[in-house]
Amino acid sequence: MAIGEFALIEKYFTGIGHSSHIDLGVGDDCALITPPAGHQLAISVDTLVADVHFPALGNPELIAQKALRSNLSDLAAMGAQPLAFTLALTLPNSNEKWLAAFSRGLRACAQEFDIALIGGDTTRGPQHVITIQVMGSIPNGSALTRSGANVGDIIFITGTLGDARAALDYLSTPMQKLNKAQQFFLQRYYTPTPRVQFAQSLRGIANSAIDISDGLSADLTHILERSNVGAQIELENLPISTALKIHNDAQQFALHGGDDYELCFTAAKSRVEEITALAQKFSIPITAIGEIFKDSGLFARANGNLQPIISAGYTHFS
Ligand code: ADP
Ligand code: MG
Repeated sequence: MAIGEFALIEKYFTGIGHSSHIDLGVGDDCALITPPAGHQLAISVDTLVADVHFPALGNPELIAQKALRSNLSDLAAMGAQPLAFTLALTLPNSNEKWLAAFSRGLRACAQEFDIALIGGDTTRGPQHVITIQVMGSIPNGSALTRSGANVGDIIFITGTLGDARAALDYLSTPMQKLNKAQQFFLQRYYTPTPRVQFAQSLRGIANSAIDISDGLSADLTHILERSNVGAQIELENLPISTALKIHNDAQQFALHGGDDYELCFTAAKSRVEEITALAQKFSIPITAIGEIFKDSGLFARANGNLQPIISAGYTHFS
């Protein structure tokens, strides 16, 4: 017999993750949270639709990881400490094999990042749709935003760029059929590393931040527009993984590819030493890729020439 709605919630979506700030979790009409004193709540929601954001027949454990990690990345981009999340799930059926694997992925990720599942909604529909809303806490007034970049700031990137874009060509191929590099790209696509702790350490040090979900060109442009500044970046300095280096399109993937969920942030030159020390402390590779300028627009230098960059990030309705 197929599992019912409430049994399903009880079996697969209770007791996932933990946070000491939750007074009431899954099971009532609302959850109750007491945020830490003197903190603001940071809230963000993202929807993943089957065959738009992940392959409908993909591994449910990895799909859960990707869904929660991409939301955690938004908390990181603000410098927030993860607190709790809700999950609205639309399923074509109550396939327990799918649910068990999805729940397993969600639980592992929630434990890793200290975030608790406190509620949600479960509905039947024509295809899988996964909506996760995350909540985090930030000491009053200390959030990293897109609007604080200043002329003269250095632009930094964590990790490497373009790997998740490279994975798009192999999404439907079974792992066993992929070589080492292709497996690495797929792992970067499904289990990106939101820079949660490092980003919190940048509060009061970085002037602006964004996570790279749509691609560096698109997301850095958001910082530039919100901060009323421009930027010059060095194409040769873009951080590219060893696996991606041999790819013909490596630089284009790094510049425009989405789904890497790395952090792009800017900070005054006087802060560079401090930032380098923090990156070492958290064992996070960071790369300076350019500088903020007064004149608007994003420009890239390659072989000594300065070229305007047109952002080509993914948008749903154009
Ligand atoms: P209501 O009808 O009051 O909206 P529901 O019947 O939708 O409540 O859900 C019952 C309880 O289970 C609620 O506490 C809700 O937050 C929780 N819940 C429902 N679906 C999920 C889910 N996918 N993950 C976590 N909690 C869920
Ligand atoms: Mg409901």
